[in-house]
Amino acid sequence: AIIQSDNQPWIKSTCAYCGVGCGIEAQVTQGPEGESATVAVRGDESHPANYGRLCSKGLALGETVVDQGRLTQPQIHGQDSAWQPALQMVADKFSHTIAEHGPDSVAFYVSGQLLTEDYYIANKLMKGFIGSGNIDTNSRLCMSSSVAGHKRAFGTDTVPNTYTDLEQSDLVVLVGSNLAWCHPVLFQRLKAAKAARPEMRVVVIDPRDTETTSIADLYLPIKPGADVLLYNGLLDYLARAEKLDDSYIEQHTENFTHALNQAQFDCADRESFYAKLGLPSSLVTTFYRWVAETDKTLTVYSQGVNQSSAGADKVNAIINTHLATGRIGRLGCGPFSVTGQPNAMGGREVGGLANMLAAHLEFGNQRASELIKTFWDSANLATGPGLKAVEMFDAIADGKIKAVWVMATNPAASLPNRDKVKQALANCDFVVVSDCIADTDTTQFAHVLLPAQGWAEKSGTVTNSERRISRQRQIVPALGEAKPDWWIMSEVAKLMGFGAQFDYPSEADVFKEYAAMTALGQEEESCKRDLDISGLADITTEQYHSLAPVQWPVAQGSQPLDDQRFFAEGGFYTASRKGQFVSTAYRPPQTATNAKYPLILNSGRLRDQWHTMTRTGLSARLNAHKPEPFININPLDAQAYGTTEGAIVKVTSLAGSAMARARITTEVQPGQLFMPIHWTGTHSSHSCVSSVVTPEYDPVSGQPESKFTPVALSPWPVS
Ligand code: SF4
Repeated sequence: AIIQSDNQPWIKSTCAYCGVGCGIEAQVTQGPEGESATVAVRGDESHPANYGRLCSKGLALGETVVDQGRLTQPQIHGQDSAWQPALQMVADKFSHTIAEHGPDSVAFYVSGQLLTEDYYIANKLMKGFIGSGNIDTNSRLCMSSSVAGHKRAFGTDTVPNTYTDLEQSDLVVLVGSNLAWCHPVLFQRLKAAKAARPEMRVVVIDPRDTETTSIADLYLPIKPGADVLLYNGLLDYLARAEKLDDSYIEQHTENFTHALNQAQFDCADRESFYAKLGLPSSLVTTFYRWVAETDKTLTVYSQGVNQSSAGADKVNAIINTHLATGRIGRLGCGPFSVTGQPNAMGGREVGGLANMLAAHLEFGNQRASELIKTFWDSANLATGPGLKAVEMFDAIADGKIKAVWVMATNPAASLPNRDKVKQALANCDFVVVSDCIADTDTTQFAHVLLPAQGWAEKSGTVTNSERRISRQRQIVPALGEAKPDWWIMSEVAKLMGFGAQFDYPSEADVFKEYAAMTALGQEEESCKRDLDISGLADITTEQYHSLAPVQWPVAQGSQPLDDQRFFAEGGFYTASRKGQFVSTAYRPPQTATNAKYPLILNSGRLRDQWHTMTRTGLSARLNAHKPEPFININPLDAQAYGTTEGAIVKVTSLAGSAMARARITTEVQPGQLFMPIHWTGTHSSHSCVSSVVTPEYDPVSGQPESKFTPVALSPWPVS
């Protein structure tokens, strides 16, 4: 019944899912009256992230543009409402709470699914006008350890690399990254490059034997949590092999000796060293030798490094080895963190993490605060960092935060120890949720629900893992009463009395203001930093709408340069302008296994699902990949615990329990289990891994330890 037409335009936009940020083209075909339109999606051959490639999730995007499950109308206490009363209620409740209990009694919990324009307004409202640092994001669960590591080493949250490095490197080391499933188009690019350049080697370091190891020349099944030790050992090896770049260390860095001393201390007892790594010396030495002899070494890392109570140290231990060899910022070299979400990077840019101020300007920098205060015309700029995700929900549970606004995310499903998070939301005085989905684990706690536009309806920008800003364009009209997130927040800001500073005719005006902000203080020594897109501040609205993908920096008066890198010649953004070695003492995960909880539960993504499946779950072909939740168990453990393929098993930790079918596989090592993150309470109340993950987190980055939870395993029902 669909009217086919080849005459409809193909609209360029960006994939809704991972941090690769692939360009797509979408074509809408209207059906007969009363029927939905269909959306065809193909890869954008001109987009430098993917050059036309897409993965299974990107190819199925069109199947997820449906009305099913959408939130289309504001609701107050479960009853449909017009926009005005709902916005007024949010503004009044927040204003009264702040007046009575102070600015830190309220919080925003936002998302890497928001567009940069949305993120900018959220940060401006909370930090600039409410006057609290209490805005944090689900990106805290994804890459905040990399942010902390970058800031300690480089002085700013800078990703020095570009995707071309994956193709031009001679040795690609993938650490804690199942690139094949979590960043599939980067994996496709790497695989093609390796086929074209047989001299290229790939090393995979991961406790799990994933799809990514299929292209590995060397696979190191490291013990969970031992990455700092492995990289401290590498620094020691490079020093002993005289493979350091003494000139780079001398000219461009500081604190090398401290870091090397610590590294040598950690691996002095060789027997204990290899035992803690869980690796034979031959594998480790081969890896070290390959790194020592290969100038173009690229280390790509992701959640396996970040989601740890030592995540920031893991990042710095990796960066240390690149600073020590001067292998940074040159073609094919460097430490390269690839982000999980489509706009995790955009959120980092505007200041969407509780410990960042705005536009890579930092809390604690008096001059930066003055500049921002003047720029925003703000009388009440936050003076210090706010609470990070886990701390924020603890403060809600303790009653210190009395009003919270959750945007485009589902913390009741995704934060560790979710039963406590659910209890916190149930007891909170006032909960606002803006989302495009009506029924999530979190929306059920909302006093006010606000319908946000979905991916295909929104217009704005996102930034991918290689600092490339791409336009997300509206493909279909907004459903029902759904509005852009930046608009919703701006309307609330106006009702709270901040009208003059939140009067934006369109998302293009928000973007231009943000771009102008990145020029602040760039001429001053104390504020100079990496992020500068002020060259885009004066573009017209038409130019914004036709903006081609562009990598930052783009300074005022300069033309965008493609494939720019950072730090080959030093030029760091620390006070001394030198890169900092960080002394990273190895420490095991915060909670050890014991007689009661003898197994380690790891968690992560599947190839064909995204987060809590509100979109990918709508596609039959994506669901067909792994149709139900499961727990991977090594055959030796299956035998020891009396379970078989397909049987229901239960995992229990200090936080709670979950059940799923046993999948018996050597992909996990003995003593380790793996469970995907995607199933939540709205699918099956018993199969949510966040019920089991305990809330330990990295004291530096605040990132939870989602990949190491001591658990017990039992058959179900227990006989
Ligand atoms: Fe989308 Fe990531 Fe797949 Fe690209 S690799 S199509 S951005 S999910």
